[in-house]
Amino acid sequence: MNLPLSRQLSSSDMATYRTIRLQAVIFQPYLASAIFALLPVSSNGLGTFAIDCFGRVYLDPERFSAWSIEQSASVLIHEVHHLLRRHFERADAAKVPDHLRDVWNLAGDLAINDDLMAQGLPLPPLFVPANFGFFNGLSEESYFVKLQKMDGVEAACRCGSGSGGSASDELEDSSYDTLGPADLARIRREVLARMQGGLSGPQGLRTALMTKPPSAPWQTLLRRLLQPKASRSGERREVWQRPNRRHDEAFLLPGIHRRGANIGIVFDTSASMDQHLLNRAASEISGILRSARVKAITLVSCDAEASVPTSISPTTILSLTGGGGTDLTFGIDALSQLADPPSVIIVLTDGWTPWPNEAPQHCQLICAIFDPSAPLPTGRGIEALYVK
Ligand SMILES: [Zn+2]
Repeated sequence: MNLPLSRQLSSSDMATYRTIRLQAVIFQPYLASAIFALLPVSSNGLGTFAIDCFGRVYLDPERFSAWSIEQSASVLIHEVHHLLRRHFERADAAKVPDHLRDVWNLAGDLAINDDLMAQGLPLPPLFVPANFGFFNGLSEESYFVKLQKMDGVEAACRCGSGSGGSASDELEDSSYDTLGPADLARIRREVLARMQGGLSGPQGLRTALMTKPPSAPWQTLLRRLLQPKASRSGERREVWQRPNRRHDEAFLLPGIHRRGANIGIVFDTSASMDQHLLNRAASEISGILRSARVKAITLVSCDAEASVPTSISPTTILSLTGGGGTDLTFGIDALSQLADPPSVIIVLTDGWTPWPNEAPQHCQLICAIFDPSAPLPTGRGIEALYVK
């Protein structure tokens, strides 16, 4: 899907960006799959480059003339490192409070920049550990602890939500091309494989890629999985009765009316389900769906067979009760065979059920699994997480 005109790079800026991107790949060839997957977004007045959690890179075109191609390429690499090193997930795992997000961003910058400087990349003046009297080579978490012990640290970092820092001027609409958790996991595997294949890279990046991902609270993971899908999967129609919010004066554009997504929920009624967790997951999902554009929710309870699908209002707080045995594929089939099938199906289960090999056609399957010893389902269109 195309970005709004106001957020697209002009054709000459896009040509410059392509040159910068190519230079970045020449500097760190193992990053190629990450760099080419980024979606460039124009961000006038940002004063720098930034990145969000979905691989959208925000570029202030003024920097294209202020920095050399080599400097811009080094800053682009810096932003990619935030994404690959999972700085936003690590901020969640470290429970960084909102008022310290910029200090966390600075800690990530120090951990990246010492690696990039050691490789001889021509960064424009940016913070390095020596500015604060720290040694090079420490982890982001260590720099974060050290920075908090210092008085008067003013962090003016603006690397965006992808760095775990605060977001500024980022796209709210998740419908524009984004990288999901599965895409990011694949890209990280590819980068690590290329680094291990003889293309040596910074130790900090290698360590981050080889470290088991931190486990963010399940509520955060569920929200991250569900929010963009619930918002994105609604049907978009262009209408002239409604002004375009990103109206460009040179063009008259139709507004966008979105009908809202159709969501299906399958819940496991087996006796082994933890009722307390089930209720918490249900209320978490209710909250997410209330804040997303949802047209309809259809509920199926399922044990050895599926109940009749029932429609509920997006404002209804789900209240679920447990029951008997398990094969949830019946519930998934019951929803996907409806005349107006859901575009997202959420399954709440202890995990001890057969799974389909892939999600139903034109549908995303999100599996929230309550028993951490149950295997996670895999396959096209399937995302899974443990609810603990
Ligand atoms: Zn940064």
